[in-house]
Amino acid sequence: MSNHLSDRIQNMSTSATLAMAAKARELRNEGKDIIGLSLGEPDFNIPDFIKEAAKQAIDDNYSSYTPVDGYAELKQAISLKFKRDNGLDYGPNQIVVSSGAKQSLFNIAMVVLNPGDEVILPAPYWVSYSDIVKLAEGVPVEVKTDIDTDFKMTPAQLEAAITPNTRMIWFSSPCNPSGSVYSKAELEGLAEVLKKHPNIYVVSDEIYEHINFAGGHVSIAGIDGMYDRTVTVNGVSKAFAMTGWRIGYIGGPEWIAKGCTKLQGQVTSGANAIAQRAVITALEAPVSKIQYMIDEFHKRRDLVLGLLGEIEGFNLNVPEGAFYVFPDISAFFGKTLNGTTINNASDFALYLLEHANVATVTGEAFGNPNCIRISYAASEKELKEAIARIKAVV
Ligand code: PMP
Ligand code: GLU
Repeated sequence: MSNHLSDRIQNMSTSATLAMAAKARELRNEGKDIIGLSLGEPDFNIPDFIKEAAKQAIDDNYSSYTPVDGYAELKQAISLKFKRDNGLDYGPNQIVVSSGAKQSLFNIAMVVLNPGDEVILPAPYWVSYSDIVKLAEGVPVEVKTDIDTDFKMTPAQLEAAITPNTRMIWFSSPCNPSGSVYSKAELEGLAEVLKKHPNIYVVSDEIYEHINFAGGHVSIAGIDGMYDRTVTVNGVSKAFAMTGWRIGYIGGPEWIAKGCTKLQGQVTSGANAIAQRAVITALEAPVSKIQYMIDEFHKRRDLVLGLLGEIEGFNLNVPEGAFYVFPDISAFFGKTLNGTTINNASDFALYLLEHANVATVTGEAFGNPNCIRISYAASEKELKEAIARIKAVV
């Protein structure tokens, strides 16, 4: 019997964020007092008005298969949201609802890439980008950025990474894991380079758009010349604390939307009916309804920056959005702490898990081996305790 995994799956890495969260859960079940700062998951409950909409949807018998690309009413709400928040005009034929933004990203890769097509990933990038690209037989091309440029890709770096095989660029702003936010001027700089390369498409992952402490989220699709070649990805996991409900969506060129719908029709069918109905209510609500969560993340960001800033060897940028800090901890490489030699970020993350009982994620998974990612989507009490423990063991 031949029971080995396909090459495709063997060659894929396990999601480092989910793996670390699973490890933390396992240790907790063994009785260890683990503080989990590995998963990017809001610790808030879903706002009541969204829960009510879901309950109503059950009573209204929204129980059948849904249209593959999403309910028409939801696509209408998404279209209005794009206009209201981003100044973007996406009609219903340009919008596809999926089972989470992760599926949206997978769809795009499968629909746009041919084997060997290169995808530029400014690193650090979100953990799943490179494996999704590889699964679609694309070739991830990392563009290394570091703390000195606030982990943002410059136009010169973009220019230098482009080859005749470049098909796409994928990035998130606010960025997971660095929290960096591209300004309008910075996006215009990248768009200027792309003018010379009309066949390159952009995936703009804006799932943290509302968790932005600097204000003024800018969508690259709104920059001159970019609309026809950008797919804007978004979802409700982060801003509405709806991670488990699995709804994400795209707005983009009609041919890409069509391809995504065709793919979903053979793989998952339309997204969950009850969740879609609830998301209509979520997206129609004014952003002021979720401002309390954003304010809380902002407070925690300041708290975490202050406390981590006191630890020698932690080199921090000031993240303007999302809910992560991404300290450069390379000062510890080559040092021995409590008998453990730290050679890289993975060693350091493991050391924190074993000695401080704090779960973080190695920066290697995000394409930056000098850093670790700490999610501050946790209570103030947990954050204070976690950082005190980290301080004590380093
Ligand atoms: N993009 C980024 C940058 C993320 O952090 C996440 C969080 N998992 C996703 C996409 C996927 O989100 P979803 O829960 O909608 O699949
Ligand atoms: N986006 C979150 C994170 O980066 C969720 C985990 C995941 O989907 O990988 O931690």
